[in-house]
Amino acid sequence: MTGGPLVEIRKVSHAFGGHRVLDEISLNIEPGSYTVLLGPSGSGKTTLLSIIGGFLHPDEGSILIRGGDVTNAPPARRPTATVFQDYALFPHLTVGNNVGFGLRMRGMPRARRMARVREALAMVGLADAIGKRPHQLSGGQRQRVALARALVVEPAVLLLDEPLGALDLKLRRQMQDELKALQKRVGTAFIHVTHDQEEAMALADHCVVMNNGHIEDQGPAERVYARPASRFSATFMGEST
Ligand code: ADP
Repeated sequence: MTGGPLVEIRKVSHAFGGHRVLDEISLNIEPGSYTVLLGPSGSGKTTLLSIIGGFLHPDEGSILIRGGDVTNAPPARRPTATVFQDYALFPHLTVGNNVGFGLRMRGMPRARRMARVREALAMVGLADAIGKRPHQLSGGQRQRVALARALVVEPAVLLLDEPLGALDLKLRRQMQDELKALQKRVGTAFIHVTHDQEEAMALADHCVVMNNGHIEDQGPAERVYARPASRFSATFMGEST
């Protein structure tokens, strides 16, 4: 592997129906970092994350992962995995089969698959839940299963789109601590979308403030909070959710 950035976003622009929602975004993601894309609703965060994950291809610009151009590659051809707000677990499958689904699709033999699944569930503190079904779990536990399912394929980058958005505030704060600890433990780069300033402060090594399709400010979370680089950033960081 080269010593450069893990993900390079180069002058990415995208429009929906003539409305430009990303305007020449350039951003580097460093290996092992926890990056938070923070901004108000409609600022373009999810669109950018979808472009990194390959669910959407940009009108202009390029995406490089480990130096390779993946701009037009589908999600399955990228070293990425995504966790969505609504978990999207299969209700009829056990937790173990939910987590092992991607490995099964890739043709991994059962014995190896089960070992990897157990490891991933242990990582999120749910080793005992392997035979349960999603409806038997709490919201926080379901989100942990979704995390295990994403991490089991050993992605180079984990993409999280408002992953805690469906949880109540108390659980949300608790899961933030868990997410941060998990990221440091596995060492995978995380890119996490949120509109919640407190969540960004709790999680980010690198905080990227977005507004109206462009980057207002970026840097270490403490710096972005204490010394915002723009008027928008100062106002937005001062608002509570
Ligand atoms: P955020 O994640 O910051 O809330 P989004 O990336 O979801 O922002 O949206 C940015 C803008 O693009 C918004 O104005 C939104 O309405 C628009 N948009 C997002 N997805 C679509 C789509 N599939 N079709 C049309 N407009 C969209």
